Amino acid sequence: MTRVNTVLGPIAAQQLGFTSIHEHIGYGMPGSELDTRWWKTPEQRYEETIPKLRAFAEHGGQTFVDATGICNGRDIDYYQSIAEKTGVNIIAATGFVGGDTALKHFAEASVEYLTDQFVHELTVGIGTSGGKAGIIKVGVSRGFKLTALDLRIYRAAARASLATGAPIITHLAVDAATAIEALQDEGLPLTRVLFGHADDGVSQGKVDEEGIVSAGGRIGFDTFGYDLELPDPPFWGRHRDERFQHLMRYLRSGQADKVLVAADANCSPLGWPGVKGHTINYLFEQLIPDLRQDGVDDATIDQLFIGNVADFFTTSTPDTLNSEGK
Ligand SMILES: [Zn+2]
Repeated sequence: MTRVNTVLGPIAAQQLGFTSIHEHIGYGMPGSELDTRWWKTPEQRYEETIPKLRAFAEHGGQTFVDATGICNGRDIDYYQSIAEKTGVNIIAATGFVGGDTALKHFAEASVEYLTDQFVHELTVGIGTSGGKAGIIKVGVSRGFKLTALDLRIYRAAARASLATGAPIITHLAVDAATAIEALQDEGLPLTRVLFGHADDGVSQGKVDEEGIVSAGGRIGFDTFGYDLELPDPPFWGRHRDERFQHLMRYLRSGQADKVLVAADANCSPLGWPGVKGHTINYLFEQLIPDLRQDGVDDATIDQLFIGNVADFFTTSTPDTLNSEGK
């Protein structure tokens, strides 16, 4: 049985239930906490976050994967208290959104150093919180090409995944051939990797989905709700129906097992206004009704949010995630 670290302790992969695989309790650029204009009191952060997670739980949501990683506002003590108050499982990430959001301290970090850092956060804990990471975040820096630091982070993530059993999620699925080559060179089965944001507006035409799927990788439809129909859409937005039909192509062609679905919403953005009108609950309030209206049955919806997630977290190799550094 595979055990998955939530910030409050490990649970079985089969107990994760309805899961959104890529979300943020609060995401900001490194240093945003130093900008007086954007300081948020603890009260304000709770006020913005708790109702969204309570609504998620009322809709039937059980697990929230926080894809924030190191340097972008990750705060484990705070996540622990939110998980306690709402009953939603929160899974924290080690790793980085990308080399370009890693603070200078990590700029020259070696693969070995990064591997040790990730494994420590997965098996011993993050800081002094006692909470352990349950997933590894990597990503492509701005410019749609993996940088040397990005690639060292990918290689370290592969080694940490092999050592602990934790899966990997990527920020952006562009430059996939380079990523696949590095991950395979480290000996990592690509079923352990979710290539995220394959559905966003700026990545279209730049993602080799066939290459990812044929290598065994998973495709992330994880920016649901960033629709160009919003009053003030972000630059990565996409027309709602275009994204929906993109997902439907996988479902209609019998490839529902290849995709994972999420909203990438920020409960309480740090240092930026966030995107108004977009929350994790888009999944329940818009996407699932759209799927039902298009004839997608409940078994397929459960597969997307429950079965595929459990499968993604389940390792065939011995589970060492919770056997070290207790
Ligand atoms: Zn994200």
